[in-house]
Amino acid sequence: QSAGVRVTDGGLRQRASRVVPGGMYGHLNAAIFAPAYPQFFERGDGCRQWDVDGREYIDFMCSWGPVVLGHRHPVVERAAAAQLAKGDCLNGPGAVMVELAELLVDTIPSADWAMFSKNGTDATTQALMVARAATGRHKVLLAHGAYHGADPWCTPSPAGTTPNERADLVEFAYNSLASLEEAAASVEGEVAAIIVTPFKHDSFEDQELVEPEFARGARALADRIGAALVIDDVRAGFRIDLRGSWEPYGVRPDLTAWSKAMANGYPIAAVTGTDALRGPAQTLYSTGSFWFSAVAMAAAKATIETIRDTEAIAVMEKAGAQLREGLSAQAKSHGFTVKQTGPVTIPWLSFDGDADLSVAMHWSSACLRHGVYLHPWHNWFMSAAHTEADVARALEGTDAAFAETRAHFG
Ligand code: PMP
Repeated sequence: QSAGVRVTDGGLRQRASRVVPGGMYGHLNAAIFAPAYPQFFERGDGCRQWDVDGREYIDFMCSWGPVVLGHRHPVVERAAAAQLAKGDCLNGPGAVMVELAELLVDTIPSADWAMFSKNGTDATTQALMVARAATGRHKVLLAHGAYHGADPWCTPSPAGTTPNERADLVEFAYNSLASLEEAAASVEGEVAAIIVTPFKHDSFEDQELVEPEFARGARALADRIGAALVIDDVRAGFRIDLRGSWEPYGVRPDLTAWSKAMANGYPIAAVTGTDALRGPAQTLYSTGSFWFSAVAMAAAKATIETIRDTEAIAVMEKAGAQLREGLSAQAKSHGFTVKQTGPVTIPWLSFDGDADLSVAMHWSSACLRHGVYLHPWHNWFMSAAHTEADVARALEGTDAAFAETRAHFG
């Protein structure tokens, strides 16, 4: 960037198109949302983000989950800065790795140990490796349409993968115990793990909370067939229940994959597991150059302690309920029939009869113009930095967006 040339979203996209495949790739590729979405961001603070064109948004994506206490939360930033001043990437982990593992074991009833990595995909993949090492079996049962990451075994697009890499997966329908039982029976004696998200949060679809009977049935089935029950808490973790998202149902997994909100935006993931799987976990060769960096661990420790010691989850629930009620009243007053699904801390809204998403695209783009950042086909995330006043201000924007969308579609 030469001096005096202003950085703009459009300019960056043009430059990126020459040096980055497609200009951008993966889940943050704004080109696949709607034209109004900015691609490049400059900064975040609390529940707000600013794009490189200087536009301010009240942020309901929270960087797609990681930011749970608000951008630049002072307690987390202080912990990270203190560690950074001593060193981040050293010849071995710092004391903070043991402290963080102790914190997870103390906080999560199903955790007797923890292993760390960087992204949610690392954690889901590692959890399945532990299950396979423990059982000596290959097959994994997973819900049709569920997202567990972007490695060849789980990426939703088959480009660059081989059929072999998915050959050990058997699908079932989320919340159907009969379907889960059938999937297990189809590969009897071969199942290493059942991997399941704490609620159904597939893109493009209304979200579905878990049926407690399904959660308990999955636990019982795993026990009966000697497979590991793996909860993929990468997306929901730390926004529903700090102890694990199925703890309110009394269902404890053998292994849990964590990431996203664990360190308020710093890169870290973890697998936690039970004593019975400690030995098998120890046999894996599973590692990475940056997996033991101390800064993200210090940030994770500060984040989890802050969620534990404050009303963070209750604050998110209150803000999420305020948003849901406000949107519901507005949709009605503008003559839209909408569905709002999922936990209030991980909300989503869909328009009835909007199969091609044209209404959602129009409305969410109008929200952007009114300073509210949410998403047309992926669930949103609340943070503990969303105050009542912030949500009220956001609702002014969403109301104007409903009015414009009504005017557009007539
Ligand atoms: N599992 C779930 C449930 C997720 O939501 C995600 C990320 N959206 C992943 C796994 C993969 O995490 P990551 O993108 O950090 O690899």
